[in-house]
Amino acid sequence: MSSKDRNPRQSSPSLSTSEESSSELPSQLQLHVQSHENPHKSRYIVDESQLEPIAPLPHDILSLNNDLERLCSLFPDIQIEVFREMLSQLSDESKLFVITDMLLKNPDIYVKGRRRTVDQQAERKASIPKTEAFRTPEYKTAVQRLAFREFKGLSRSTINAVLSESNYSYLDARPTLVDISSKSWKFTFSALILGRKPVTSSEAKTHPLISWRTSEGGSPVPSVRATGNAELDRELFDDLILPLKTLEKDTRDKADHALALSIQTEEAEACEATYECACCYTDVVFEEMTTCTAESHMVCFRCVQQSITEAVFGQGWQRSIHKDTGALRCPAVCSNFCEGCISSDHIRRAMDGTEKGAR
Ligand SMILES: [Zn+2]
Ligand SMILES: [Zn+2]
Repeated sequence: MSSKDRNPRQSSPSLSTSEESSSELPSQLQLHVQSHENPHKSRYIVDESQLEPIAPLPHDILSLNNDLERLCSLFPDIQIEVFREMLSQLSDESKLFVITDMLLKNPDIYVKGRRRTVDQQAERKASIPKTEAFRTPEYKTAVQRLAFREFKGLSRSTINAVLSESNYSYLDARPTLVDISSKSWKFTFSALILGRKPVTSSEAKTHPLISWRTSEGGSPVPSVRATGNAELDRELFDDLILPLKTLEKDTRDKADHALALSIQTEEAEACEATYECACCYTDVVFEEMTTCTAESHMVCFRCVQQSITEAVFGQGWQRSIHKDTGALRCPAVCSNFCEGCISSDHIRRAMDGTEKGAR
């Protein structure tokens, strides 16, 4: 036996993708491999392309969700939870009619105050949100597994109760689990991250569900650990990783824009293709300029931005803004007063351009 075979941890990359290879190991090692190197445990999802396609819902779950949909439209003032409860308790073929009948005759017995407010009813979307629909047993098991792993200090029955309360929506149940575990003796610092809101970049550094991997280029990339369920993987990826990726892309785009602009200005200056701003007399590239409507004065984006800021926060509103059209009066410095203005479209373009790092 080679030294590689004797150390299951070292050979984990091959084990992580193939269950077969672990069965070739002696039984003692297999145990070790299974407890530490579960195939799902060592797979990290960094990129959307790694997400597996979600299997279509089985017939029984589909039909339950159809019934749920119908009951929701029949009784818009009752919370979905009530229907879910009743549908899972009855096995009758005609349960939709039975439930409708029960709710019409004795609503209070089943509803127990779980009514939707007028606002909630107005908010109702065309279809039931996924977090309120029936989920597959595989999905529930994957959620349980994830919760057991993250909240080791809590008893399984507590975790199951919380999960069932939130219809197995992990990210909805999480704040409660964090809250309960913070009161238990095994309180961990990571549990401080509360609430279901987009993860900020500073929180992301310590979020227990986000694991930072090193990309080929050496920079850290956020990932989620595969749960073994395609649907749950997709949800975690969309809720935790995607916002971080968007944020990163924005930052990169801004930097790219600033770089492109500085190159553009350099090139334009080199071949004297810049224009002088009629307001601040700086040389600026054509892409960063706008013109007034009367005498085609060339005005740079920065001057437009400064005039707007002054008009909004300073004393210049009456002087700078045309009271009927909302357009900016031409800020060009010239001997006779210019009647032209900068249209609101151009203002918007100038403000956008400046925000993206144009200086
Ligand atoms: Zn200017
Ligand atoms: Zn002008």
